[in-house]
Amino acid sequence: MTFEDNTTTEHPTFVTHLECGMTGAIFKADELHQLSPEGWPMLVRYDLEALGKSLSKNDLANRSADLWRYREFLPVRKAENIVSLGEVMTPLMPLSRCVPAGATVLVKDEGRLPTGSFKARGLALAVSMAKELGITRAAMPTNGNAGAALAAYASKAGIETYVFCPEDTPAVNMAEIALQGAKLYRVNGLINDCGKIVGEGKEAMGWFDVSTLKEPYRIEGKKTMGLELAEQLGWRVPDVIFYPTGGGTGLIGMWKAFAELEAIGWIGSKRPRMVAVQAEGCAPIVKAWEEGKRHAETWVDAHTVASGIRVPAAIGDFLILDAVRQSDGFASAVSDADIEQARTDAAGQDGVLLCPEGAATLAAYRAALESGQVSSDDEVVLHNCGSGLKYPMPEAGSDIDRHKPVDYASM
Ligand SMILES: *Cc1c(COP(=O)(O)O)cnc(C)c1O
Repeated sequence: MTFEDNTTTEHPTFVTHLECGMTGAIFKADELHQLSPEGWPMLVRYDLEALGKSLSKNDLANRSADLWRYREFLPVRKAENIVSLGEVMTPLMPLSRCVPAGATVLVKDEGRLPTGSFKARGLALAVSMAKELGITRAAMPTNGNAGAALAAYASKAGIETYVFCPEDTPAVNMAEIALQGAKLYRVNGLINDCGKIVGEGKEAMGWFDVSTLKEPYRIEGKKTMGLELAEQLGWRVPDVIFYPTGGGTGLIGMWKAFAELEAIGWIGSKRPRMVAVQAEGCAPIVKAWEEGKRHAETWVDAHTVASGIRVPAAIGDFLILDAVRQSDGFASAVSDADIEQARTDAAGQDGVLLCPEGAATLAAYRAALESGQVSSDDEVVLHNCGSGLKYPMPEAGSDIDRHKPVDYASM
């Protein structure tokens, strides 16, 4: 089966309504929504009983190995509205040499997705729904990867996009965003400053705001990461998940996936311990977790090499913290030096080139082993949410002058 086949398949959906993630207030599906009127993220709800009756695990066997295999769990009503760039299932790669002997550590390598990051999952859904609901103009603040995914999917759908990023966003991100058809603006500030520009301009510009959790569907795309993980493990969950946490969509989405899978009886009540990993230079969720709070304060002077998790304020902070606490997980901040070391070790010893955010999860795992928060008997999944190739790397190599004798002995 090719990806194109999806556009001709029947596409049943079980969406019943949307719900305010804070108050539980109910809203109609099939209408445009941003935040709830109270200003909180909205969650998509399904008739899970009907879903469970109409779909069996075996039904999935013959479907293409992409996120649309979970179409019953997704909100797109008409197959012709699906905007796809080939969202492959991503492998679970064991690390063996850069972790203690005998430890089971699997890297979910999301760098294999279109546009080189798992932002493709969220934006594939957000853009498909934007198409279904008639959006023609969208805008987004981004640290790079989300903007790249929005640009690519929106261009494919014929939707015009405006993307705002901090001026020190990795150069490759800015180039890909522009090349993939978005209007790109560099802002001398952080992602929340970019978000403010989108928020204040959206009425005058007629923009649909695709910011993290400010529309309901990116989280449904990220949810497929949890469905896929459970399926890859034979319909069970690992003991611990380390997740590089910025806006938290992936963590919240996986948590939602596990609840939906339990509701239809495909997994039991066991949940992985969810670990929110941040950088020491930007750790609002870690601070709130340590202080026992449900909301995080905006982090001042945020800085880290892991640009994807340089998010000083997350509107879904309470959803992240609820999942971390309900799962008996924890939140962990790691230094840029430990991130770089983890990146060097995973690449040099296991041949796995992590992005800095992914390396942060390995650094956090190592620290948690040391502190006893996890044990080497735990089955652990680390999320590498982007391709390591998208980030600056140290200069390397030695020069050879082909006009002179090569000094092999010195190699
Ligand atoms: C966006 C991003 C993250 C953070 O993801 P959230 O789900 O928004 O917390 C982590 N790593 C990379 C590479 C990213 O692009």
